[in-house]
Amino acid sequence: MTGGAGFIGSHLVEKLLSEGHTVDVLDNFYTGTRRYLTFSSGKVSRLLEQDVADPVVGKYDGIFHLACPASPVHYQANPLDTFRTAVWGTWQVLENCRTNHTRVVIASTSEVYGNPLEHPQRESYFGNVNPVGIRSCYDEGKRGGETIAMDFRRVYGVDARIVRIFNTYGPRMLFDDGRVVSNFCHQALLGEPLTVYGDGSQTRSFCFVSDMVEGLVCAMNAKDFDGPVNLGNPLEYRVIELAQMVLKLSGGRSSIEYKPLPPDDPYRRKPDISKARRILGWEPRIPVEEGISKTIEEFRERMECHGD
Ligand code: NAD
Ligand code: UDP
Repeated sequence: MTGGAGFIGSHLVEKLLSEGHTVDVLDNFYTGTRRYLTFSSGKVSRLLEQDVADPVVGKYDGIFHLACPASPVHYQANPLDTFRTAVWGTWQVLENCRTNHTRVVIASTSEVYGNPLEHPQRESYFGNVNPVGIRSCYDEGKRGGETIAMDFRRVYGVDARIVRIFNTYGPRMLFDDGRVVSNFCHQALLGEPLTVYGDGSQTRSFCFVSDMVEGLVCAMNAKDFDGPVNLGNPLEYRVIELAQMVLKLSGGRSSIEYKPLPPDDPYRRKPDISKARRILGWEPRIPVEEGISKTIEEFRERMECHGD
């Protein structure tokens, strides 16, 4: 697994180990955490500490390719590295799969839809992406990753499976990750104001990480898989509603502080998951209130134990 020390990756590694698989992790620890690579369910057999944009060696039954910073704060901090990771990193993984005839699940993103004019977003929608804005390194990088995945499929017959992940949250998100769920939970537990960007009327659809992990495993195991598949929770919330929910569930008394909306921030986002239901037999099961409560609980414990 590339990106196995990251937020989603660490949960996926844990699940695969608990099922008795042997897992190698490739990660450069840009946003990854070393202690997330030790699990009660087992041990990662090999840690390849390297950039995914360097040649990826080793013969595997399957590769989950997740390496890439996902939070706007982190992917915008080094935009050229982000673009290189998303495009050239994916190329390196695909080269490995071509040589070894290996199946690969590639983590793409709802960001390929940009600021969508079609709502909810189906896989057939081509998107509305600014190619020169501050989010482009990620959005266009991931679109480029999808392009080469489909061309490795068409040209070399590589079994490349693109999943478009929508906003996913849960335990183990970094406190300084910068994404909305981790910011709100951390701020609420510290008693600091919750930072709502813009007027909070923009929407997102939030998927709990255990549901996402199930979806990724279904994508690897599915018998038939061709074009991209959306994975996410189709329930849509305004950002201000999320802030109110976090305050209610944490018992916090923080105020809400409105801050400027970052450029190109998509106004709404909600996946159409009919295709995932049809070809993977998958849909999310954890209600958002339950997932947010679990996240707050783990944040509380971590703040008491580690402080990070
Ligand atoms: P994350 O930032 O927590 O994890 C990414 C992991 O990749 C980290 O361990 C990081 O150190 C590693 N990494 C980054 N660049 C690398 C490089 N050049 N070489 C090797 N390792 C590198 O992010 P996440 O939330 O776990 O996301 C995982 C994947 O899912 C990403 O590809 C992301 O684009 C995609 N995704 C996530 C979400 C979400 O809401 N979490 C939404 C859409 C797409
Ligand atoms: N957001 C917010 N406050 C924060 C962080 C994010 O209001 O502290 C907003 C952000 O502007 C966006 C939404 O929450 O509209 C989701 O942001 P996130 O960075 O989690 O993911 P995105 O979907 O934008 O990649």
